[in-house]
Amino acid sequence: MADNIKLEVVTPEKSVVSEEAQIVMSPGSEGEFGVLDGHTPFLTTLKAGMIRYKDTSGAERAVFVSGGFAEALPDRVTILAESAERRRDINIDRAKAALSRAEERIGKGMSDNEIDVIRAKAALIRAITRLNVVQTK
Ligand code: ATP
Repeated sequence: MADNIKLEVVTPEKSVVSEEAQIVMSPGSEGEFGVLDGHTPFLTTLKAGMIRYKDTSGAERAVFVSGGFAEALPDRVTILAESAERRRDINIDRAKAALSRAEERIGKGMSDNEIDVIRAKAALIRAITRLNVVQTK
């Protein structure tokens, strides 16, 4: 059986995950990618999405990530994100409120290029993604 890999998910505020995993799936900017022990090293950017991993007991875990960077080494994956929360730490009411605010701002926007609309769209994607992570089995 392959060895485990070390998963680290870090934000400017704190370490969100620091755990051994059997496999880690991450939302790369160019598509989802998986890392197993012995993977070729690489560096990539991430989009807002869900990190999924199997812990050492084989249980599936889900973590929201706002986007950032991932470094994969043969025995570890390090993710640096602006914000990240484990599924159980996601506040559903807060995500729903953020979604409503973003929809309202987008509705008021005159042009797609307006900076407020661009920000609101990013906030909308974060809120929808958090709600998706919560619903994942
Ligand atoms: P909000 O408008 O509710 O702050 P946001 O998407 O703008 O949402 P972020 O900038 O991604 O928030 O994150 C700011 C901080 O708040 C981070 O520490 C993040 O982990 C936390 N956070 C944001 N939304 C939630 C949520 N729904 N549940 C738990 N933590 C959250």
